[in-house]
Amino acid sequence: MLASLKDVLSDARAGGYAVPAFDVVEDVMVRTILDTCERLRSPVVLMGLIGPDLSGRGWDYVPGLIQAVADRYDIPVVLHLDHATDLVSIERAVELGFTSVMLDGSALPFEENVAITRRAAELAHPSDVSLEGELGCVGGSDLEATRRIDSVLTEPDQVEAFVKQTGVDALAVSIGTSHGVYTSLPNLNIERLRELNAVSKVPLVLHGGSGTPEDQVRNAVRNGICKMNIYADCRIAVLKGLRESAGAQKRPDPTLQDMLGPIRNRLAEVVEQKVRLLFADGKA
Ligand SMILES: [Zn+2]
Repeated sequence: MLASLKDVLSDARAGGYAVPAFDVVEDVMVRTILDTCERLRSPVVLMGLIGPDLSGRGWDYVPGLIQAVADRYDIPVVLHLDHATDLVSIERAVELGFTSVMLDGSALPFEENVAITRRAAELAHPSDVSLEGELGCVGGSDLEATRRIDSVLTEPDQVEAFVKQTGVDALAVSIGTSHGVYTSLPNLNIERLRELNAVSKVPLVLHGGSGTPEDQVRNAVRNGICKMNIYADCRIAVLKGLRESAGAQKRPDPTLQDMLGPIRNRLAEVVEQKVRLLFADGKA
């Protein structure tokens, strides 16, 4: 069933696990992730990413598809807007029935980040839509891998004021991960995470979960991470499935099921691995 991020993360914080959050494109991802999470009894966050996927009709398809099927699943499903940097997108997502949105003001100076995040809360909260903000900056590469942004670790002494002044329900923090595929392995600053978690009234979120070594992810969850965003590892799984599928077709006109089967299988493996890694199995 559709659920709010606030409720799902409050349970995660109390229970000492993290909820997997997957950026989703197309039915094959939505369905495979929901089927796998239901089988494992895990809550899940499905995210729409502004860009090629959420533009034009994408604004209707991505949330429309998730809303059409979420209530058929007997696990909490959060419909979340990932990485909005403008208020028009927040307004639109609230109108379309997203249950959660992220306003990412992390590239702005602190005061401006507070101001725009506060405005996003004013747009989201009257409709019971949860809000995630970001403090510090999780860098890395953009989706097309054309641009790299440096990470800036989150400062613990800014957390209390940011949460209080903005009203966010969840806070993305920068502790050493980055977006996209790693060129060298990250080294998470768990001591910093502990400090952030101790002063934060709201659950903490880790972006750049793909490719992060498993022992470091487990350590992050044990020290306060309640939601982890994953996209690159799913895209890599889809590519593996595509290659396998293309090589296996004997007919010139294979069925869609034959072609999509290996993609679903590889994706399901990654989803299961992430759910277990975050200790989220059996929690829904
Ligand atoms: Zn992110």
